[in-house]
Amino acid sequence: MSQIHEFGGSLPAIPDDVTVAQFMFDCHHPLRQELDKPGAWLIEDATGRELVREEIRARTDALANSLSARWQIRDDDVVCIFSPNHVDYPSAIWAIHRLGAIVTTANPSYTVDELVYQLKITRATLLIVHPWVYPIARAAALDVGITLDRIILIESGTHDAEAKHPNVQELIEEGAGRPKSFVECKLKPGEAKTKLAFLSMSSGTTGLPKANETAVMATHYALVANVIQTAAFFSSDARPLTQQPVRPGFVTLAVLPFFHAYGLVYIMHSLIFYGLTLVVVPKFDFTGMLRSIEQYRINYICAVPPMVALLCKHPDVEKYDLSSVNTVASGAAPLTAELTNRLTARLPHVLVGQGYGITEAFVLVSMSRTDDSETPGASGMLAPGIVARVLKEDGSLAQRGEPGQLIISSPALALGYLGNAQADGWLYTGDEVIINEKAEVIIIDRIKELLKVKGFQVAPAELEGFLLDHPDVADACVVSIQDEYNGDLPLAYVVPSASAQARIEKDSAEAGRIKMTLIKYVAEGKAHYKQLTAGVELVDVIPKNPSGKLLRRVLRDRAREAAKQG
Ligand code: AMP
Repeated sequence: MSQIHEFGGSLPAIPDDVTVAQFMFDCHHPLRQELDKPGAWLIEDATGRELVREEIRARTDALANSLSARWQIRDDDVVCIFSPNHVDYPSAIWAIHRLGAIVTTANPSYTVDELVYQLKITRATLLIVHPWVYPIARAAALDVGITLDRIILIESGTHDAEAKHPNVQELIEEGAGRPKSFVECKLKPGEAKTKLAFLSMSSGTTGLPKANETAVMATHYALVANVIQTAAFFSSDARPLTQQPVRPGFVTLAVLPFFHAYGLVYIMHSLIFYGLTLVVVPKFDFTGMLRSIEQYRINYICAVPPMVALLCKHPDVEKYDLSSVNTVASGAAPLTAELTNRLTARLPHVLVGQGYGITEAFVLVSMSRTDDSETPGASGMLAPGIVARVLKEDGSLAQRGEPGQLIISSPALALGYLGNAQADGWLYTGDEVIINEKAEVIIIDRIKELLKVKGFQVAPAELEGFLLDHPDVADACVVSIQDEYNGDLPLAYVVPSASAQARIEKDSAEAGRIKMTLIKYVAEGKAHYKQLTAGVELVDVIPKNPSGKLLRRVLRDRAREAAKQG
């Protein structure tokens, strides 16, 4: 029986001499469903404004012209986009790529310190910022020595301080009005395989001791490859087009954030390439989302499990016309068989599928076909071009049906982490899976330390390092308890410092105060999804093995047992 797993279909040629921008605007690929289609690429949710390919191309090129003229952005400069979703977000990315520069996208819910960290490690020199998060961007820029004249607003701001910065619309007008002053980045055959396009934040698959996230180096080729893998997967569906879960001409919601690889690669690039129209939504609000589904007759919804949970439960679902919805595709965190079945029961006309992805494989690895023969809770079939092995704990390869760590090779793999390129061509995902007899990938657990809260990455080591900086903390270990809505709820086991211990001994009520202080400390210092929502437990000691390594699983199992007891 084979221990190497591959998708049965073939993978068409992947161009290795184009930038992402050239690929999106000009590449005539056999899988391309969209180039000759008249429909819009993007629709702005709030206004209904539609943008077609030629308008987006003109905006992209004009913006590239002014980025080059005003700030001399060119080869391998790093530009950070710090913004919720916006119709000019794709143009900003492609303009940066036109100049041969690199994009790093930052989570708009970051605190100043979190953004400072990303700006520092990626060495970004220019910021494109949404006015909503301007104060954070300004403080972070000043901290790392980026002068304020290097902040651009993605749309005009309303406060005085913001008004001093040029906005993307102004730069587009300026760039369109002046002669072309930049030389478009053109790649030689093979060069796209090494030319960096994105630095995407991730906490890695093996865990970094006491560190925050690191930056994944994704090339132009990696993105192009994953778009082609995804389109090849869609096109290999043998059913008539009217029964397929994703179809050219479908309208989808781009509500999941563009800063994360799921939104960036899958929604912004693969779905546009395959001929879907994106309704761009800056902020998730469930009732607003239902309204947009009705208004724009949305056919395809890219979701994360908390959105599926709301679709299953929320009373407002009955108030809106969701008859246009054909498919809900969930990803970024596990979607249980139970939620899948509940959604199918509530919205029987809707196909419910699941995809599995990882930033390091930029991004899609496997995906449901959404047909009746599928195992509920499975994450579908491997995308074309992905070769997978399942590695058992003893180092041998698992047979079908046996659990082990998923390792993959794929043309879309990133080059590795900034400052730490990986060359052996295999990605150790840190996920425990079974590949069953039907060749489905079933994710059963996470071996790596990563937590996923509402689909967002939370690295326990980052929170532990942060807690250790607090004077009341001598040692800390962050684990999670499971929650249907959020996925993981972070919980910190903390050994009080000697001074904190002395206060507790004098007054036992102090223990409660210390817990509250630490919860508040994390809430103020870290983005909202990193909060200790399952609380803080004070303990005498954190279990470690003889060489000092945290025995996280012991505490995790203890926490989950306690949660079960209620
Ligand atoms: P990210 O790089 O932020 O996309 O995180 C990748 C990780 O998210 C994977 O390694 C998995 O641990 C988890 N993940 C993504 N999709 C799924 C899924 N469908 N089921 C279970 N875990 C998932």
